[in-house]
Amino acid sequence: MRARGPAEPIARLIEELAKLPGIGPKTASRLAYHLLRSPREEALALAQAIVEVKERVQLCSRCFNLSDVDPCPICSDPTRDQQTICVVEDPLDVLALERTGAYDGVYHVLHGVISPVDGIGPERLRIRELVQRVRDERPNEVILALNPNIEGDATAMYLARQLIPLGVTVTRPASGLPVGGDLEYADEVTLGRALAGRRAL
Ligand SMILES: [Zn+2]
Repeated sequence: MRARGPAEPIARLIEELAKLPGIGPKTASRLAYHLLRSPREEALALAQAIVEVKERVQLCSRCFNLSDVDPCPICSDPTRDQQTICVVEDPLDVLALERTGAYDGVYHVLHGVISPVDGIGPERLRIRELVQRVRDERPNEVILALNPNIEGDATAMYLARQLIPLGVTVTRPASGLPVGGDLEYADEVTLGRALAGRRAL
């Protein structure tokens, strides 16, 4: 006797779902069978949402945040302080800072941090674009809101060395964020407080 796994299309769905972060093989199976049992429209709506996010979402040409319009709504909002740029690692950090309701400036998304161990040098990130943007826009302040860990600290130091000679005030959020933690998981009050207590480098 040969033991049988799920039908081929189900096995393929499980395999695809298991590639998602935080989803192990068991959860992938549960999700696959849930989709199988759910109404056809619901499953198709999910598939459609995945297609649309890949086709319609692009990077803002100024801040490199994800957006379906260019420039993004934050860059084109006249009620925001366009002279204060908050530098973050990824788009989820923008969402975390927006949730605090405590920040009214604009952003610059690096899409990672310098990490020699992982082979990520400055040229792989949106650092050249940041330096050029600071030269062109002459902002009042650049806030380096990078995660408080080794890579985040090293990237902040690297950026400070490039930006301070341009005559811009460079700050970092106050400590108080969990060390080694991720900005994205800090609660709104902690994050808002860290931002309000930022200090010049
Ligand atoms: Zn933008």
